[in-house]
Amino acid sequence: MRVSKITDIEKIFNEIRDCARCPFKDKGFTFYADHTTPYEFMLVLQNPLSTSKRRSLEMEEAESAHNLKQRVKVHQRYFSDWFLFRKNRKFIERFLNLFKEYKLIDLDNHEEYIKHEFFDDFYVTDLIKYWCTTSEIEEKHVEHAVKHLQREISLVKPRLIISFGTRVWEALKGQFKLKAYQRWESKVDPDRDKETVSNVHGFLFKSCSPPPNHEVFVIPLVHLSARTRNMLLRDSYIQYLREGIQLYARKRSSSRKVT
Ligand SMILES: [Zn+2]
Repeated sequence: MRVSKITDIEKIFNEIRDCARCPFKDKGFTFYADHTTPYEFMLVLQNPLSTSKRRSLEMEEAESAHNLKQRVKVHQRYFSDWFLFRKNRKFIERFLNLFKEYKLIDLDNHEEYIKHEFFDDFYVTDLIKYWCTTSEIEEKHVEHAVKHLQREISLVKPRLIISFGTRVWEALKGQFKLKAYQRWESKVDPDRDKETVSNVHGFLFKSCSPPPNHEVFVIPLVHLSARTRNMLLRDSYIQYLREGIQLYARKRSSSRKVT
């Protein structure tokens, strides 16, 4: 059983490595899980977020790993450290508290959870899996990367995807034909035809074009670094997310009663 699960990740790993259309091959890429199922929650970031010095250290360690499982552990450790670093820590603690409050995860101690249990509950992935800078990424790279991401999603089958940043949101919106699952009149400008990530931050969306037998919800969030620069949104960052999570939790418990 376990063997076939590992194979799924290795398949994705190999597909990207062997893909003639994937750029940045020389930069190395990351995986934060060594199996694809079962995961209810998936976090999709737009590209790796730590400093270039830390990236080099991480890649050096990852490249010396003997197998995928070990390599994944290296990436998880760096990711946990990044999450626990100063301003990120405040965000992730409040983020996890919401999941706990709505009984989506079991959480006692934040640091212990982030270091040891987080990756059992959350499948983490990057839209662009290579260690490139944001300025190196062009639209064509994003358009292509989303095909690999879609394949990954079809294997992991998450029920709730939390997306970070504009590029991930735009990619998922198109790919899954996302429609708002909650009313938003109370919160923002009534002119909603522009569903930019800052306009829809924290809202629950449902896919109108899901893979067969797979219901997918998405909550878009602005990029974590953008959050620190945007005073207006920063104050509401968690408050808006709460409503999306609350609605998802309600939907989740009602669908469990039916089945
Ligand atoms: Zn490719």
